[in-house]
Amino acid sequence: MSFFKTLKLNENDNNMSDKLNENIESVKCLIIGSGPAGYTAAIYAARANLKPIVIQGMEAGGQLTTTTEVENFPGYPEGVTGPVMMEDIKSQAERFGTDIRWGEVTAVDFSKRPFKVIVDEEKHFEAEAVIIATGATARYLGLESEQKYKGAGVSACATCDGFFYRGKNIAVVGGGDTAAEEAIYLSGLAKKVYLIIRKPFMRASKVMIKKVENTSNIEVLYEHNTKEIVGTNVVTGAILIKRKGEIDECEIKINIDGFFVAIGHKPNSEVFAKYINTDKTGYIKTIPGTSKTNIQGIFAAGDVQDPIYRQAVTAAASGCIAALDTEKFIASQE
Ligand code: NDP
Repeated sequence: MSFFKTLKLNENDNNMSDKLNENIESVKCLIIGSGPAGYTAAIYAARANLKPIVIQGMEAGGQLTTTTEVENFPGYPEGVTGPVMMEDIKSQAERFGTDIRWGEVTAVDFSKRPFKVIVDEEKHFEAEAVIIATGATARYLGLESEQKYKGAGVSACATCDGFFYRGKNIAVVGGGDTAAEEAIYLSGLAKKVYLIIRKPFMRASKVMIKKVENTSNIEVLYEHNTKEIVGTNVVTGAILIKRKGEIDECEIKINIDGFFVAIGHKPNSEVFAKYINTDKTGYIKTIPGTSKTNIQGIFAAGDVQDPIYRQAVTAAASGCIAALDTEKFIASQE
């Protein structure tokens, strides 16, 4: 039943009204998302006595729970696995009284305050302020072998995992700025980088194309599609189709230890789209230097509003900013 239908019934039916009221939970600060941005926002909001509730979402702990080693988050000199790090940040948020709930936000009404948020189509929240920290999801090619080797040679984050491929041969797939940037970054670590592009040209900006062209250990494979990633327990190669659908179509095999998918990210902002301004890809627009969205009292942090940096540490920092902005906002309303 939709939120609006529920309210309509409620107007005509006292029993329903009681039921609905029982089911509505009021909260000062509702945080949607449980990655580094969401949990960091929770640490700050809880310490500021805002009694935050965090809605974990479908992927509790966020994208980091799908990575292996994290070596670039300050405070872990020996590195840490993504899931352990997220458990640590979660425990820190809980230590200050954050209330963490299972569930996914299925509808919102941000037309007026208190803001209404529905979880799993049944649990209703009313919040004085909302922090959106729903992250972004890396796009994958959709191959079975890609799933099989995730974390065993297949990655969607060069900065996170590139270090493990020092001196090795790897491939990056994609022709946009992310792929170009990742290929350039990885070329500083790996012996050789194949950049697999499905079109006869790169979509990346001119300056990035130039950089790719000027990097001697990057080989660009235009008009190549990935058919399969192959390996034993880990990736050892990829089968590519050259000039797919053309008369001279052929298959080639490249020997690689790592396969980086860089074909874009999808910010998880659809459920807010009716109210919150985004760019054309769906990244939430915030006022530069703040976490403020186009609606007063709704803040955004982490990858859902960051098409560029997308690091755990930048997400955590923006979660802190969002909590501080929220604290100020709530104080101004009281
Ligand atoms: P883009 O959408 O720009 O590019 C995605 C690339 O992946 C395209 O080349 C696309 O191919 C390719 N692709 C998509 N699906 C497949 C598939 N199934 N098989 C093979 N290839 C596929 O995403 P980016 O992440 O690169 O960039 C997103 C935005 O972020 C852009 O606006 C970009 O400019 C910006 N950005 C800016 C940076 C900076 O300023 N430093 C750094 C990184 C990103 P095709 O071209 O054929 O569609």
